[in-house]
Amino acid sequence: MKKLGFGLMRLPQLDPNDNTAIDLETVKGMADRFMEAGFTYFDTAAPYHRGNSEIAFREAVAKRYPRDAYTITDKLTLFMIQRKEDFPAFFAAQLERLGVEYMDYYWLHALGESTYRQAEEWGAFDFLQQRKAEGKVKHIGFSFHDKAALLEEILTRHPEMEYVQLQLNYLDWEDATVESRKCYEAATRHGKPVIVMEPIKGGTLVNVPEEVKALFTDYAPERSIASWAIRFAASLPNVMMVLSGMSDEAQMADNIGYMKHLEPMKEEELAILEKARQIIQGKIAIPCTACRYCVDDCPRKIAIPDYFSIYNNLKQFGPKQGIVAYTYYGNLTQSHGKASECIKCGKCESHCPQHLSIRAYLETVAAELE
Ligand code: SF4
Ligand code: SF4
Repeated sequence: MKKLGFGLMRLPQLDPNDNTAIDLETVKGMADRFMEAGFTYFDTAAPYHRGNSEIAFREAVAKRYPRDAYTITDKLTLFMIQRKEDFPAFFAAQLERLGVEYMDYYWLHALGESTYRQAEEWGAFDFLQQRKAEGKVKHIGFSFHDKAALLEEILTRHPEMEYVQLQLNYLDWEDATVESRKCYEAATRHGKPVIVMEPIKGGTLVNVPEEVKALFTDYAPERSIASWAIRFAASLPNVMMVLSGMSDEAQMADNIGYMKHLEPMKEEELAILEKARQIIQGKIAIPCTACRYCVDDCPRKIAIPDYFSIYNNLKQFGPKQGIVAYTYYGNLTQSHGKASECIKCGKCESHCPQHLSIRAYLETVAAELE
């Protein structure tokens, strides 16, 4: 299988302020380009576009292609489920939204310290195995956002898990919180192929500082900035698939261009990436990946990742970004709570796979932008 997966997490929208309003005609066109180029792997989950990502998959792929032409991955998202008795209904609703009789891959979603303990308590691993025994899913695994020591523990206790989906990119490779390298090595030791998520870290590795752009374009002017990040992940031998959350036709065309016949990274390119990593590391204020898991439960409807993105741009690009940042912030606060309106309930932090101190960061954002 070719190593590029279509992540259906950041699909094109008809209304930028409504992430349920997916531009289905554009998604159909993107899915067609993807399939024509020989790629088959699609990844979704119930929280993406509030369930509408799964429906978009049904309309763009399941209804328009034979079942053996594609592979689809979906996930059991514990933070959307109130009690273990609801697992069967949650799963059945996913099959219906996807428009399929079975899933190729089914993951426990975003395991970390607390979600893993809950998964054990609720028998979620058994639930996956039962669905596999019934033929309702072909393969099982989990996506993971925590330290390598916990990954070791899970893989040791659950050898029945066949795959691991990891946050892996050149910026997080040696990061003390994400531990991409250590997690990759743990999965490899246990003989589990890795599916990569966040290869461009929610866009951070596309919107890189000018010095980094110059490093890349001096070496290979024809290559996109994103290609450096995606090829880094795809060049690792135990990586089975790299998910790219493509949002428009141009990103799709770019990704297909270099992933159709993957050219593994050379040593000299890895040395350039190391220089790039050092520069970017020094400039990121808030390491948010814009996954948006935090937003739905916020009682004040605060646009957390959008505010963090505005703040990061301001810090990264300096005062020239100032007017743009204040304008964007002002517009967003017309329809969302301001950063200063956070009541510190902490609901958002319990969903954050990056373990960010969201409440503290919102105070910083408010001090800068209000
Ligand atoms: S802590 Fe603040 S931002 Fe987080 S969910 Fe509560 S009100 Fe929203
Ligand atoms: S703050 Fe955390 S949960 Fe929210 S979008 Fe950023 S990384 Fe995701």
